[in-house]
Amino acid sequence: MPRLFSLVAFVALLIWAGAAAAEGVALTFDDLPTMSLTPDAPYASVTTKALLDGLRRHHLPATGFAIGERLEGDGGRAHTVLVNHWLAAGMEVGNHTYSHESLNKIPVEQYIADVARADAILKPLLVARRRPLRWFRHPYLETGLTIEARRTFETWLTGHGYRVAPVTMENSDYVFALPYDDAVLRHDRPEAERIRRAYLGHTARAVAWYRRAAFQLLGRRPDFVFLLHATRLNADSLDQLAAILRRNDLHGVTLDRAMRDPAYRIADDYAGPDGDEWLNRWSRTLGKSLPWDSFPQPPADIAAANDRLDTQP
Ligand SMILES: [Zn+2]
Repeated sequence: MPRLFSLVAFVALLIWAGAAAAEGVALTFDDLPTMSLTPDAPYASVTTKALLDGLRRHHLPATGFAIGERLEGDGGRAHTVLVNHWLAAGMEVGNHTYSHESLNKIPVEQYIADVARADAILKPLLVARRRPLRWFRHPYLETGLTIEARRTFETWLTGHGYRVAPVTMENSDYVFALPYDDAVLRHDRPEAERIRRAYLGHTARAVAWYRRAAFQLLGRRPDFVFLLHATRLNADSLDQLAAILRRNDLHGVTLDRAMRDPAYRIADDYAGPDGDEWLNRWSRTLGKSLPWDSFPQPPADIAAANDRLDTQP
């Protein structure tokens, strides 16, 4: 009996330790309404519905970052409906600028005007649902070439109730997304499935790398903020993506909750050309290296296919 008791206690301890060790992950999806090879409205609608259904099925909270320009002009009305679907599904929606410009490429005053223009489009959608517009994500994660530009913009953001959404996990999903769209649109199912399998294999390696890298840097694993894009590839892969997160002891949390992790208070004074994610920024601050030697790369043939598709007019 004592032996049985100690076995039960031991198993309970293991379960408790496992639960205590599990980290949160806040999923974020850039380029709402969708990032896609085609401007086709039904394609975007199917993508959005499948993404939101999948997130709901797996109880994964998410934040979507909308490009203001896409909610105006041709298709603007249909795209606005899709952003409203995100809000109706209980997801957060943040600002991803009006024209998806980089702060590294235009003057800060022009950049602020661009973000304010997106704010004017998005705010009524959120106010109508009594939801706050409080998150901003930099396109290309480019935060300014000079510390002056960076601080000027961040002061504007704070003054307008925004917080920067950092990134501490990513899987280069954009490299796979257009080749996948291309295969789907050509009805080439074997090729679409081949790309999807390569994507999931790459994601499993990338998630494991970020957990390892964070542990090497911080001596523990923080709650992560995972950068994805609103693509058909992710919409068609939600079940497998959720399984990868589960296998890595990652449970879904809101962005707000992830950002309460003290890691997000580590200083980041980087100004320069690199659109880095935040582990890399913290590694500079802390003077510690990350295991870049083992950083996984997407398959070369898929990267080449993406380069071809991405430069098409
Ligand atoms: Zn983007």
